[in-house]
Amino acid sequence: MVRAVVGANWGDEGKGKITDMLGKESDIIVRFQGGANAGHTIINDYGKFALHTLPSGVFYDHTTSVIGSGVALNIPVLFQEIKGIVDRGVPRPKILVSDRAQMVMSYHILFDKLEEERLAGKSFGSTKSGIAPFYSDKYAKIGFQVSELFLEEKALKEKIEQVIVQKNVILQHLYHAPALQVEEIYQELMEYKTMVKPYVCDVSSYLWNAIKEGKHILLEGQLGTLKDPDHGIYPMVTSSSTLAAYGAIGAGIPPYEIRQIITVCKAYSSAVGAGAFVSEIFGEEADELRRRGGDGGEYGATTGRPRRMGWFDCVASKYGCRLQGATDVAFTVLDVLGYLDEIPVCVGYEIDGQVTTEFPVTALLEKAKPVYETLPGWKCDIRGIRKYEDLPENCRNYVEFIEKQIGFPITMVSNGPGRNDIIFREKDVETK
Ligand code: GDP
Repeated sequence: MVRAVVGANWGDEGKGKITDMLGKESDIIVRFQGGANAGHTIINDYGKFALHTLPSGVFYDHTTSVIGSGVALNIPVLFQEIKGIVDRGVPRPKILVSDRAQMVMSYHILFDKLEEERLAGKSFGSTKSGIAPFYSDKYAKIGFQVSELFLEEKALKEKIEQVIVQKNVILQHLYHAPALQVEEIYQELMEYKTMVKPYVCDVSSYLWNAIKEGKHILLEGQLGTLKDPDHGIYPMVTSSSTLAAYGAIGAGIPPYEIRQIITVCKAYSSAVGAGAFVSEIFGEEADELRRRGGDGGEYGATTGRPRRMGWFDCVASKYGCRLQGATDVAFTVLDVLGYLDEIPVCVGYEIDGQVTTEFPVTALLEKAKPVYETLPGWKCDIRGIRKYEDLPENCRNYVEFIEKQIGFPITMVSNGPGRNDIIFREKDVETK
């Protein structure tokens, strides 16, 4: 049985918490895309952790954590993360790394930084983790696969030599930076080889057998639908697909094996980086939500950057859930809204005088103005509540209003950052 946990929006929806929670019933947790550019914040019995590369299931000793071939693998970051959790008392996790995963090289990070500097005010707001240069190289067929670490020295050096020819032209002539040297890159790869060797595995074959044995597998997505390069707010997107469908590719399993797609939506909106954000709010209203948001405020897990804040966006979330193929919606961070007298919800976009509930392409999105409906708040703390019926009526109305607007069943409501802060709901007949 394979399930996926993915985001409906711009990322930071609370996927890490949901994955950590569902990890209890999983045997294997797989990262299938993205790299160390975004992070999950997880709070459990061991403490509070920010993970970037490790799957959020590493805290259980019964799970195996898998880095699939779709991931941008930063080996030093992976090892720092393993050390970071082991040093804090977490049992050493069982980790497998796909022999087909490609590696983020130090020059990918360098190119990312240089390009952001060149673009200056017109930059994409990259986290400078090398992700865009990495995926560009992967699809230009000049990336390095983990399996290539085991090539003969001569063959590997020949490949490096070929790859750096065009890199050096750009480095020297566009960025006026020093050229890359074959020997340096070779040594970097040999360091990676030493670190990664014990974990390398034919992941798709391992997962195929695990599926046949009836194991429970969880695919963990990074970011959300709106950052998908095909279906998101291009070009303000990430460089690998954030959709559950890509889980089959990035893990190497048959698509029909993914039986449950848990799509995470946060009870309000937040986004990082540039790009249209229709229900964005500003000033004191935004500062207060940012301060109270998530666990300890809405600041990037990787960069510490303050996140842009907004009200819940039904147009974006309906689209986000549809593209994910949501079978279930996990509605998170609802507890944070308990301070508000009234809560605006974006139910439509006005574009050139017409109101639509369909999420448009980027050029139209930039013209969209939010159409709000305002719901009454519940004015109390809902943390600790375990049954849906025990939530205040206005709080249930908020959940049910949004469920109706997005048209996908909210089967989990998260009312606190901890593993046990979760309320399960039956699927409503209309959204089943
Ligand atoms: P992810 O990348 O989708 O995993 O999201 P992040 O980790 O960046 O952001 C989610 C933040 O919200 C984290 O700090 C979580 O600890 C926190 N969080 C998750 N669910 C809840 C919840 O229901 N209530 C509160 N207050 N915080 C939550």
